[in-house]
Amino acid sequence: MSSEGVRRRCEEVLRQVPAHVTVLAATKGRRPTEIRAAIAAGISHVGENYVQEALAKRPLVPEPVTWHMIGHLQRNKAKKALEVFDWLQTLDSLRLAGRLERLLAQAEKTLPVLIEVNIGREPQKAGVLPEELPDFLQELSRFPHLQVRGLMAIPPLPEKPEDSRPHFREMRRLFEDLSREEIPGVRMEVLSMGMSVDWEVAVEEGATMIRLGTALFGPRV
Ligand SMILES: *Cc1c(COP(=O)(O)O)cnc(C)c1O
Repeated sequence: MSSEGVRRRCEEVLRQVPAHVTVLAATKGRRPTEIRAAIAAGISHVGENYVQEALAKRPLVPEPVTWHMIGHLQRNKAKKALEVFDWLQTLDSLRLAGRLERLLAQAEKTLPVLIEVNIGREPQKAGVLPEELPDFLQELSRFPHLQVRGLMAIPPLPEKPEDSRPHFREMRRLFEDLSREEIPGVRMEVLSMGMSVDWEVAVEEGATMIRLGTALFGPRV
């Protein structure tokens, strides 16, 4: 899409989203010029699904924005991921956490992370099951270089936006229950849920961050 088109769509969306909700631009497959047009319109968080794609694109987007890994991260890509991403939204295993912890300790860095929750209990999907979250978070306190800042979810593909509502509602309940538990090192600040089709429902159910691709950039080609 043209830079002008992207800028107009982004401004339109940003006008509709309440100020307390952060809009992350999901930029897989989008060109650096499109990403820069989104940033010019007011976007300050970018999400990529693949380490290699982010490594190739980030130097071409020199604006000071925050880059999030929103795709599944394989352990053998952890080192590269730390070179390019500021946040990881898809932490879902202790083995990955252990690998990141060692790398971060060596580099004397910390990484803010969200825990991906498999809220629809889909066997093919990544993410921690809701009932496993408390133990998972307790275990993560062994990894002081990982800063847990909230939860992320990708509910089952909805036929209509309302299909996502029960999943978003359960996510908000988990988010609030866990913030009351006061687990060491864990802060529940970001609830990342809602995509182009269902972001309005997500906002109604308490998302603090929505991740939009099509709504900002048009259909993927
Ligand atoms: C692609 C993607 C999005 C955005 O999807 P749209 O339907 O284009 O808004 C959000 N989150 C993740 C994890 C994605 O991969």
